[in-house]
Amino acid sequence: MEIKKGIAVSPGIAIAKCLVIDSEDYRIPRRSVGSNQLSGEVQRVRDAFKAAIRELSLMRGEYKRIDRSDIRDIFAVHLRFLRDKSLRSRITSMIENHSVTAEYAVSATLREIASSFTKVKDTYISERATDIYDIERRVLRQLLGSKREDVRSLTEEVAIAAKELSPTQTAGFDKKFVKALAADVGGRTSHAAIVARSMGIPAVVALEDLTETVSGGDTIIVDGNRGIVIVNPDNETLSKYEAYSVEFVEMEHKLDTLREKPATTRDGEHITLLGNIEFPDEAEMALEKGCEGIGLYRTEFLYLESDHEPTEEEHYQAYARTISFFRDKPVIVRTLDLGADKFTQSKRFSREPNPFLGLRSIRFCLQNLVMFKTQLHAILRASVLGDVSIMFPLITNLQELMQAKMILRDVMEDMDDEGIDYNRDIRVGIMIETPSSALTAYSLAQDVEFFSIGTNDLTQYTLAADRGNEQISTLYSPVDPAVLRLIRTVIQDAHKARIPISVCGEMASEPEYIMLLLGMGIRTLSLTPPMIPEVKQIIRSVTAEDCSRIARKTIGMNTERQISSFLRDATRRILPEAF
Ligand code: PEP
Ligand code: MG
Repeated sequence: MEIKKGIAVSPGIAIAKCLVIDSEDYRIPRRSVGSNQLSGEVQRVRDAFKAAIRELSLMRGEYKRIDRSDIRDIFAVHLRFLRDKSLRSRITSMIENHSVTAEYAVSATLREIASSFTKVKDTYISERATDIYDIERRVLRQLLGSKREDVRSLTEEVAIAAKELSPTQTAGFDKKFVKALAADVGGRTSHAAIVARSMGIPAVVALEDLTETVSGGDTIIVDGNRGIVIVNPDNETLSKYEAYSVEFVEMEHKLDTLREKPATTRDGEHITLLGNIEFPDEAEMALEKGCEGIGLYRTEFLYLESDHEPTEEEHYQAYARTISFFRDKPVIVRTLDLGADKFTQSKRFSREPNPFLGLRSIRFCLQNLVMFKTQLHAILRASVLGDVSIMFPLITNLQELMQAKMILRDVMEDMDDEGIDYNRDIRVGIMIETPSSALTAYSLAQDVEFFSIGTNDLTQYTLAADRGNEQISTLYSPVDPAVLRLIRTVIQDAHKARIPISVCGEMASEPEYIMLLLGMGIRTLSLTPPMIPEVKQIIRSVTAEDCSRIARKTIGMNTERQISSFLRDATRRILPEAF
């Protein structure tokens, strides 16, 4: 049994057989074979090693010709390893003693060796683990060839372990079979984590070397509440977790009974709870969880899941479907937020040295007008179907906002000429997710009808801490005093300018930050739908006065650690089950 600690990014507990996928999505399940197939599997190992040796020798010859001794040396090491008889006999004994497939025996044996290398203090030896993974990939390629199994066509329940998960890859997982996600890298507000949370799949990231520790077919426990992954648990741990899992499901059912109850504080202050969605299909779940509309529709996922640039009609259909669930309830459609960690399959973006500081989001739209206008046309067309608003992401200055609004007016004029109906009074808002927009919020407020604070990006840009990088995850916090000061300024400016304001970053889904946000004057939260019941429970347990007191105390504190622990204690007193 091995316990790995990471960052909890999506709540829930799952116990399942592990499926390790790498960037090539190889799938190596532990599969048993009958005794009459064992010699065949052993022969497959022999053939695969032979073919891998042949392939490497040819490549080595090539490099000999061009005189690259450094690369030749690496190949020589790999060849020596592949020719090592004791390695092969270790693999074949595994097949014979445990009746498993050739690919499973190769993967499990080589990963075990690599893992023992990584534990050695000598960096020369520990770095050799990468060579072993390289060898593993080479032999597996021989064994699996074109028959590589596809993670998109699963037939049994699994917990996926991956080095890194992309948002698109995560969105493509089949929820029926993928019961949990565990990744070596990533942060709490990385988009893959956000998608996992919206899909309600328990997930833990920042597990460092999990994929080097597990083999496909191992049993793993993914504890998305505590941020723990346990590999091959012993019986006692297994039973303990089976009990936790039942308790968690019971708590969720209990919270679901709040669905029909209002999100009103004990002293009668109503808080509007909206949902964040990525796909139209999530709208139904958001409603079931009791949201009063959509506060953030991340439309770029339409673009990410498709292998072509979505047509105007495809945009329209997606918006119309979402709106159809809500009728007269508000739906805020955020325009495309592509770039940074949200790339298209067609990789139309040129590589940038600093993608999060580069051509992303509204900046990308303003440089790709055909794409931008196509989306605006579709949103406007859908605007007559319900209560629709448009929200521009990542605005950094007033010119950018004016430019975006001018393009919107252009599209309106085109639609007038085309005789297409749309809502002329559609509300236009912006996300406040950069320090520059926070600091100039009052002036921006003169030209928009609402603000929504995107705390995920606001935190990363204020603290210069990448939201997806687990190595600086202790720095990245929305309750750092600097971030809180900016949030407070934006709320005050919105109130002064008399425009509505909400928070739609992940901060609004975190139980321990709810009282603080209410205390700072927020009355609308847009959050990941599975967290709505828990957040509602907190709202119903406090008074607006309690929240103001908490906010006043927090604002006077000077360190993130002090603020975090103060908020955690305050929330724990109100809702102990949340911890
Ligand atoms: C944010 O940055 O807080 C936000 C809600 O947008 P996204 O997470 O999609 O970047
Ligand atoms: Mg953002």
